[in-house]
Amino acid sequence: MAERLVPGLERRLRAEIGGGVHFDRFSRGRYATDASHYQIMPLGVVTPRTIEEAERAIEICRVEGVPVTPRGGGSSQSGQTVNESIIIDCSKHLNSILDLDVAGRRARVQPGIVLDDLNRQLKAHGLWFPVDVSTASRATIGGMTANNSCGGRSLRYGNTRENVLSIDALLADGAKAHFGPVAPDLSDVPDNSPLRPLARDLFALGRREADEIAARFPKVQRRVGGYNIDALVPGRNDVNLAHILVGSEGTLAFSTAIEIKLAPLLGKRAVGACHFGSFHEAMAAAQHIVKLGPIAVELVDATMIGLARDIAMFRPTLEAFVRGQPQALLLVEFAEEPDENARRLQRLHELIGDLGFDWRNSGAKWGGVADVLDPKLQAAITDLRTAGLNIMMSMKDAGKPVSFVEDCAVPLEHLADYTARLTEVFERNGTHGTWYAHASVGCLHVRPILNLRLDKDVKAMRAIAEQAFAFVREYKGSHSGEHGDGIVRSEFHEFMFGKRLVHAFEEVKDRFDPNGLYNPGKIVRAPKFDDRTKFRYGPGYAAQPMTTQLDWSAYTGQGGGFQGAVEMCNNNGACRAAAGGVMCPSYRVTRNERDVTRGRANTLRLAITGQLGADAFTSDEMVETLKLCVSCKGCRRECPTGVDMARMKIEVQAARAERFGLSLHDRLVGYLPRYAPYAAKLPWLLNLRDMVPGAAKLSEAIAGFSARRSLPKWRADVFDDVTAASLPGLIRQSTPLRDRMDARIKSGHDDGEGDKRGDTSEVVLFADTFNRYFERENLDAALAVLNAAGYQVHLAKPRDGTSRPLCCGRTFLSIGKVDEARKEAERTLAALEPFVSRGVPVVGLEPSCLLSFRDEVPAMVKSDSAKQLADCAVTFEEFLAREAKAERLNLPLKRIADRVLVHGHCHQKAFDAFGAVQTVLDLVPGLTVEPVESSCCGMAGAFGYAAETIDVSKAMGELSLLPAVRNADAETLIVADGTSCRHQIHDGAGRDAIHVARVLAMALA
Ligand SMILES: Cc1cc2nc3c(=O)[nH]c(=O)nc-3n(C[C@H](O)[C@H](O)[C@H](O)COP(=O)(O)OP(=O)(O)OC[C@H]3O[C@@H](n4cnc5c(N)ncnc54)[C@H](O)[C@@H]3O)c2cc1C
Ligand code: SF4
Ligand code: SF4
Repeated sequence: MAERLVPGLERRLRAEIGGGVHFDRFSRGRYATDASHYQIMPLGVVTPRTIEEAERAIEICRVEGVPVTPRGGGSSQSGQTVNESIIIDCSKHLNSILDLDVAGRRARVQPGIVLDDLNRQLKAHGLWFPVDVSTASRATIGGMTANNSCGGRSLRYGNTRENVLSIDALLADGAKAHFGPVAPDLSDVPDNSPLRPLARDLFALGRREADEIAARFPKVQRRVGGYNIDALVPGRNDVNLAHILVGSEGTLAFSTAIEIKLAPLLGKRAVGACHFGSFHEAMAAAQHIVKLGPIAVELVDATMIGLARDIAMFRPTLEAFVRGQPQALLLVEFAEEPDENARRLQRLHELIGDLGFDWRNSGAKWGGVADVLDPKLQAAITDLRTAGLNIMMSMKDAGKPVSFVEDCAVPLEHLADYTARLTEVFERNGTHGTWYAHASVGCLHVRPILNLRLDKDVKAMRAIAEQAFAFVREYKGSHSGEHGDGIVRSEFHEFMFGKRLVHAFEEVKDRFDPNGLYNPGKIVRAPKFDDRTKFRYGPGYAAQPMTTQLDWSAYTGQGGGFQGAVEMCNNNGACRAAAGGVMCPSYRVTRNERDVTRGRANTLRLAITGQLGADAFTSDEMVETLKLCVSCKGCRRECPTGVDMARMKIEVQAARAERFGLSLHDRLVGYLPRYAPYAAKLPWLLNLRDMVPGAAKLSEAIAGFSARRSLPKWRADVFDDVTAASLPGLIRQSTPLRDRMDARIKSGHDDGEGDKRGDTSEVVLFADTFNRYFERENLDAALAVLNAAGYQVHLAKPRDGTSRPLCCGRTFLSIGKVDEARKEAERTLAALEPFVSRGVPVVGLEPSCLLSFRDEVPAMVKSDSAKQLADCAVTFEEFLAREAKAERLNLPLKRIADRVLVHGHCHQKAFDAFGAVQTVLDLVPGLTVEPVESSCCGMAGAFGYAAETIDVSKAMGELSLLPAVRNADAETLIVADGTSCRHQIHDGAGRDAIHVARVLAMALA
């Protein structure tokens, strides 16, 4: 990336702007991409704390002659937010509601407010902003306005343009103006307003071009290309000057406040999931379905159904409503009064029948309607539908679905023809695409699979684009129907709108911004859309050879596939969500692009491809980038393309440990399982740290453990296999099979079925380091419960002749000592091999330790026993829930409390193991189980103990977990399975949380 330097600019910005000013290569690199395939290194980044700071920064840029690009969530798909300019990131601080008029159903907001955050605040008033873009969790109102974004329900609510009332803007000459409704003769605009001469000229342009606009502007609802000069045509009675700024992609002015129209929340809905045996038939049906007055008709095709079935999050949703093997689904949504919904749904059934579809048919005319009336399932289907693009992007190959013709909108009567012809074009160019999204408005998303590192695929991209746009012009559709022009579509304006209108667009730009201050090169005077020098994977893009420690073979590229894993991030920004799910807790606290999965993945990608200078992978800046990643694995599950940052962080830490060695802090954290047996012999000595005044401060200075956090208490009465073995029903390993059989017979549990169901009558209890040394009560409780339920419990012991307890290796992984972690894992595997080879379940209490047997251990050790262990490893609750489901669990339990508040460990959530926790607690009579809507508790192993991260740790806890615990009454049980989570709850809310095993032990009848 060639760079332009502007001497003095950074110094001036720093001196005059209090907010964040970033000119280092790592920070700029994180703003060099959006959700398009482009990459342009910006000159710098500013995250202003106030609108005044933003205005000041823009003024400095104006004086210095440097362009600026406003930015919201950076989720644009067409390259709108990348430029060789100063990026003004509005999302971090400029995100408040300024005024709310509930009765008048309108609000004035700052540009950086995220749609979901806004709607959460509006919900209490029964209102929402109804432009429901798929990226609602990170799209800002400023970004939506500038892109004229459109939601899935645009059939009813229109695009953003129809929902913006006015905009306060900073113009390129430094003047401020209020853009809103005006009288056509401007009689209501004050004489001294900067708007007056501007509006006069714009209206003159509108008058002059009225005929051309009438002739060349597509009549479809989904036209977001070019400037909205149709708003300037005389004769309209709704002249609103804000509409010229809507859709202008940050090229005309900087929006400082946006006034929007609100709508009442949707009531009960009815969804008809129309199944089709042929894609073409589905497309042909859309024009008839819209006549029934739905608010949305969304397409999901067979490829997407197939991909979604492979994603744990979406599989249950599909299973709940999809029948057979449809080639396409049209999800038809009605939102009227309940009776009317039912009537329309009935008419939908009749219509689909009249069109010749029947469940009993085969081939193209197979199909019918599945009713979805359960609001929870409807919401899950909406999640699936809005994740459409991301589901497609989960493909792990080097070729990826590329966004450039995904936005065409054609009149509905041509939809079937258009999709068929474009599919042929894909085939002629050696590729294929997956179709999804807004059938109701003729705007179907489709992304052909291309590898933009290859010249031939870049050529195919142009051929496909030219052909697609020719079809669209023929059908009088719009080539830019939702995602905006950016770099992708601006080049084609002349072909679509004609030379004369493109010239008019240029006049608009020049009238607003003659010197090209605002986001130049978008909408007008754009570069070629296939200019590879502006690509993320541009000419010369290559990762350097690298050695990695873990298995990345599911991906392609350097480092055994590590490169491909990093490149899975497509920048869509789902990790920027502020609520719901887990990902990404650190971003939720800091709101820094650096501290979100996307920022980390981009930094890694730039580092391994040499774009951040030598040794960037192991640099201090990389450490800073990953410092607040708590390895919660939220992204592993929730990132739609499966970016697994926790695992990637291990590679960086390993490379760093290799290059620089370990700090004392890291040694104390990582080697805990090795020194714990000795420490437990002198607990009083080690506990002095939290008893002797000044000792904690000293430990902070020497080893980096925060003096504001107590450390876990050492104790002498640790869980030891010998005394535990005296419990009835417990067998210590590694007793030969014969002995085990004898023991089973002696304890009266052998029903003759033992060998046939060896995996159910016997289990291994894996005693992890934390529970063994600090909280043996949990292991005792688990033993008591398993014993009461009649299981033969084994405690595996090392087979290398040593007495040191087994360990999963997790603490070593957390400091990058993969070799040591591997040694621990191999030692444990050797001990467990006699069990897992027979399929005996290995049950664990500490989620992160147990689940590493399913995740990191098989990624470190390639052996049959590692695979077998991955299959056998289950959390305590998963085991019991499975047994209960199979009706094999005989656990007599009594009532102990009315209510339990449960915090799920992040790794339980990442591995779908949290549901089992709730299932098992539900077994306790009379207990109401209430999960806390929480992300990571913030402790995350050593993270919450470290002096440099304790503040973020506490802030993470305060996001939702600690307030929920504080609000619980004293009788409510608090449950958390993670040892760190319990510590955080104790420190932050003054309550003792307990493990599920102890709840069950208390409830044993
Ligand atoms: C997976 C996926 C799904 C999507 N689904 C949809 C969809 O359903 N509907 C849809 O319409 N779009 C969709 N998009 C595109 C994109 O998410 C939307 O356009 C979104 O509204 C952009 O918001 P943002 O905050 O991310 O804006 P950004 O991408 O940050 O910026 C968008 C434009 O706004 C300008 N801008 C930002 N702030 C200001 C300001 N204060 N003043 C002036 N200009 C400003 C920027 O310069 C840029 O040109 C999707 C994208 C992805 C990746
Ligand atoms: S990390 Fe995942 S969720 Fe975040 S931007 Fe990248 S692909 Fe999207
Ligand atoms: S592991 Fe957790 S903290 Fe780290 S990037 Fe993923 S979601 Fe964020």
